[in-house]
Amino acid sequence: MSSVPSSGGILQKILERGYQIHPEALKVLEARGEENALAVLESFSERFSEAIVIEVKQVEELLEKTPGTKEFGAKLKGRITQIYDGSGLIQRCPKCNRWIIDDFCMVHSDVEGIWDLRIKARFDDGKDRCTLIFKKGITEKSVNITLEEAKKLGEAATLEQIREALFGKNFEIEGVKLNGGNFLVKDIREV
Ligand SMILES: [Zn+2]
Repeated sequence: MSSVPSSGGILQKILERGYQIHPEALKVLEARGEENALAVLESFSERFSEAIVIEVKQVEELLEKTPGTKEFGAKLKGRITQIYDGSGLIQRCPKCNRWIIDDFCMVHSDVEGIWDLRIKARFDDGKDRCTLIFKKGITEKSVNITLEEAKKLGEAATLEQIREALFGKNFEIEGVKLNGGNFLVKDIREV
């Protein structure tokens, strides 16, 4: 039986996605704990879609740097005012997880894309705006659709269902605040 030390878990996940990482950037990530490191990794391909090597500057941009700020358990209350293009049923590169179109990755060329669900939406709390990012699990839950159902419906009908479920409605949202105005949604409740 082989066991992977917990500090190796983050590096392994990075390598599995086809990235290389600068040692200093890895140190910063490891110091923040695995949950925060994975949140950064999840948003990395969205923010730096052409990067291959993860640099410390990019990690710092994605991490909330204010001392004493808690990255988890952040709460927002407001309204979803736009569903951005690129939301809904999408394809990802199986090697690097980037969003791709027509089975072509700008880094890995011709690949067999993997279907995924995501939402990018504008959120307005009356004072500030941010971009909400929904990964597959929370997309399925908040729109009440599974990836398999979305594949049967097709891209356009899936996007329509997302709009009907979310657009113009008020929500209480829990998740991870990331620099650059992005907010990774972990839980959402209509209010
Ligand atoms: Zn790729």
